[in-house]
Amino acid sequence: MKVITTKSELRSSLQSSRTDRKRIGFVPTMGYLHEGHISLVKQAKLECDIVVMSIFVNPLQFGPNEDLNRYPRDFERDCELAKKAGVDYLFHPDVSEMYPSQSLTYVRVGQITEKLCGASRPGHFDGVATVVTKLFQIVQPDRAYFGLKDAQQVAVIEQMVLDLDIPVTIVPCEIVRESDGLALSSRNVFLTPEQHQQALILSKSLQMAKDKLASHLFESTDQVSQFVIQQIQTQSLAEIDYVDTLQYPSLESPNSLTDDLLIAVAVRFGSTRLIDNVLVRHNNKEC
Ligand code: AMP
Repeated sequence: MKVITTKSELRSSLQSSRTDRKRIGFVPTMGYLHEGHISLVKQAKLECDIVVMSIFVNPLQFGPNEDLNRYPRDFERDCELAKKAGVDYLFHPDVSEMYPSQSLTYVRVGQITEKLCGASRPGHFDGVATVVTKLFQIVQPDRAYFGLKDAQQVAVIEQMVLDLDIPVTIVPCEIVRESDGLALSSRNVFLTPEQHQQALILSKSLQMAKDKLASHLFESTDQVSQFVIQQIQTQSLAEIDYVDTLQYPSLESPNSLTDDLLIAVAVRFGSTRLIDNVLVRHNNKEC
């Protein structure tokens, strides 16, 4: 595995692969790797000849009062995990390499970014769309791998790629969970044992809601969200940011319980904000 810190070196390293018509897979991350990230690499290795991973904590997607400075980082450990997973190129630029001068250009995706995390983190998805566009320009991957843990992010990137004619196939990958159900996240490291225990309500309540939907026990999508809210409120340390049930991937208000639905939650435990979701597909049975 080659660790690369500059855009020009990455571009020139990938040149020969491109000339040889090798298929380039790309896994963008913010590091502090866990099995969720590794699952994306595994999928990329199945489908591509070369796997590029980026590790970049992107300041543009953090609001002024968010956790940019305390976001967990351990580059040495990440290197070992990435190498073991079979990453070929690990791109680890610093902020001045990615943003050498004050940027005057941003990428903004409309509508889909106004709900859920977009509503509670203003500007977040502008930062995501902008950095992902830059990374796509630098890596020029054939396929790029994103986790459905961030289902709204997947919807935003798919829309952006469509709207801007970016020649890359987006591959959404399933959520990886701990054996107790908690969705893996770099931020889980901040949870106390008690917070971790209480946070299990997220996956439990989402799965219960999905099961009840399948058994036709809800009359409206509002009832679905209310059910999840009531479950989460049983935990004393949980502070709900949002719980919503929306059409996926448009994130419009659902017309009926038989739409493809995303039930999504964001909940704080102390200063740690966790997100989780389930997809309920009626029109495509893969989930
Ligand atoms: P992050 O480093 O948190 O920005 O995540 C980088 C990529 O890994 C994103 O596409 C995430 O959706 C994905 N990811 C993070 N956690 C998980 C998980 N538990 N399961 C699957 N993918 C994940």
